[in-house]
Amino acid sequence: MKTQKPEWLKAKAATKDEYHKIQDLMEKLNLHTVCQEANCPNLGECFSKGTATFMILGDLCTRNCRFCAVQKGLPTYLDEQEPQMVAEAAQKMELKHVVVTSVTRDDLADNGAKHYARTIEALHHINEGITVEVLIPDLQGSEQDLITILETSPEILNHNLETVPRLYETVRPMANYSRSLELLKRVKQLRPDILTKTGIMVGLGETEDEVIQLMKDIVEIDCDILTIGQYLQPSQQQLPVKTFVHPDQFKRYETIGKKMGIPYVASGPFVRSSYNAIEAIKKLRQ
Ligand code: SF4
Ligand code: SF4
Repeated sequence: MKTQKPEWLKAKAATKDEYHKIQDLMEKLNLHTVCQEANCPNLGECFSKGTATFMILGDLCTRNCRFCAVQKGLPTYLDEQEPQMVAEAAQKMELKHVVVTSVTRDDLADNGAKHYARTIEALHHINEGITVEVLIPDLQGSEQDLITILETSPEILNHNLETVPRLYETVRPMANYSRSLELLKRVKQLRPDILTKTGIMVGLGETEDEVIQLMKDIVEIDCDILTIGQYLQPSQQQLPVKTFVHPDQFKRYETIGKKMGIPYVASGPFVRSSYNAIEAIKKLRQ
């Protein structure tokens, strides 16, 4: 049942100054940040800490997730300059941690892996000390494409499970829960030195037991970081919110996850996949 937004979700908004500053720079460089396009409520906080999320590989997605407002269709274009542009934008913004994500490009023979790899390399090359997190699609299960990305040594490899397996058909019909888990498991097998991370949205109709089972699954594959945030309907075209999960329940998930042995759990109404990543790295690398 959908109700009006509760008080705890009305608190945050990015200031106009922060928003316009970043918009100007992105327009000049012909780039997109998820932060600005989603008008993310954490924008002020993240930018002041030196974090931002860039979207690469275009703005048309070959998948049809029903929670996502990204335009769907068959892309025809790949911007070869993009990796360098992202690296330069990170330099101008003096970022300390960059998240790179993308649409899913099932149309590309390598699922966009080389483009990711070039972006990671460019970021590391011109931004000394920067940490890079890639939030990647499932690469249609290709181990070779995963290796291409891992060889460039991102500090965090993130792949979101998004929701519990029962809801996949409704929420992300072209994805597969086991395939996504397998991808995260392989990262740990191939490169145990790279932190693995996943995230889910709650408020889509999942039960607590299902969330706990998902946490068990990620403990089994040694996933280092879990984020849990409230699903918010981007527009009338996407799935409605089933419940606004109370902050106490988020705390409960965090406590349960930590007790189960997940090294870092960030759980709260405003938590997004890329939120608080610097803290997670610091804590896990101590
Ligand atoms: Fe950007 Fe992610 Fe921070 Fe939101 S949480 S402002 S999308 S880096
Ligand atoms: Fe949106 Fe990613 Fe799903 Fe594409 S794969 S529809 S970008 S969530």
